Amino acid sequence: MAILDRAIVRTLPAVPKPIVRKISERYIAGTRVEDACRVVKRLNTEGKTATVDVLGEEITTGEEARHIGYEYENVFRTIDEQRLDTNVSVKLTALGLKLDHGLCRETLERLVREAAARSNFVRIDMEDSTCTDETLRLYRELREAGLDNVGVVLQAHLRRTLDDIEALKALTPNVRLCKGIYVERPEVAFQGFDEVRENFVRALDALLRGGSYVGIATHDEWLIEEGERLVREQGRSPADYEFQMLLGVRPERGDRLVTESHRLRIYVPFGEHWYAYSLRRLQENPKIAGYIAADTLSRLIPGRNGRS
Ligand SMILES: Cc1cc2nc3c(=O)[nH]c(=O)nc-3n(C[C@H](O)[C@H](O)[C@H](O)COP(=O)(O)OP(=O)(O)OC[C@H]3O[C@@H](n4cnc5c(N)ncnc54)[C@H](O)[C@@H]3O)c2cc1C
Repeated sequence: MAILDRAIVRTLPAVPKPIVRKISERYIAGTRVEDACRVVKRLNTEGKTATVDVLGEEITTGEEARHIGYEYENVFRTIDEQRLDTNVSVKLTALGLKLDHGLCRETLERLVREAAARSNFVRIDMEDSTCTDETLRLYRELREAGLDNVGVVLQAHLRRTLDDIEALKALTPNVRLCKGIYVERPEVAFQGFDEVRENFVRALDALLRGGSYVGIATHDEWLIEEGERLVREQGRSPADYEFQMLLGVRPERGDRLVTESHRLRIYVPFGEHWYAYSLRRLQENPKIAGYIAADTLSRLIPGRNGRS
């Protein structure tokens, strides 16, 4: 990232929320389930599948966590009504992990059972390393209770990830593998760009060798190509893995993956609690300075975009 971009990333939390919202629109489907479903429908017509995430990591009460649970039930109903090709992703903090553990566990299990009844699937997102043990424990409990329509996420930047793969091996877990977005201490996570990439490749190789279905979640060109190489070398058919990308990030590369006959799933977040997610996406955007500048300019010069 250029120096100006890095400086802007540091000041982003001070940028007024309406501006953050405007420049992060490309990453979020909207605030309502209808918005998410409209986006999923378009993706489906483009030959892509999706995973819908109800944004909610900023919640502070059990009541809000319950509401997120109901929102997911609404998502499942709408997916079936509209016959959409999508599953869902959940963040355990949005279901109350840090507020009321019992409520979180109960809601998660209810959602996984609801998904099973509808032949659908729940992916448990991975959050910062204070959540890793508990997330993997809940995942294991569900699998040991006989629920197979649930998957987890592992983060290549964490030093523990290869050990986690080994520990989960007997479950042949369905795993989304990503670099990991949360800022972690050096004792916990690799800090170097190349170290993280190398660990991603090692983890992907181990998961594929263990027979896991893997969601290769990256926009990093080098890793996409390494992913293609590994699935080819291990004789995987396109039904045995998928690539995953975030809504609004490198869509043209996603189109190319589909043209090349890979399965591609797009992460489609929606909801009222859009702020924390938006900040993370903007902080990862290598062209953030340009976006801020363009937005500021369009405010200073009304009508610049053909709208006044
Ligand atoms: C489907 C999916 C689900 C994810 N789930 C989780 C999760 O559960 N837990 C977790 O910790 N992390 C998750 N992540 C985030 C992930 O950990 C990375 O932070 C993120 O994907 C960026 O890493 P990268 O591999 O794309 O490589 P990077 O090196 O960060 O990005 C590669 C290139 O992609 C482009 N790019 C990346 N981000 C942006 C952006 N925001 N705007 C514009 N261009 C961009 C740039 O050209 C960049 O050079 C998920 C990512 C995906 C794709």
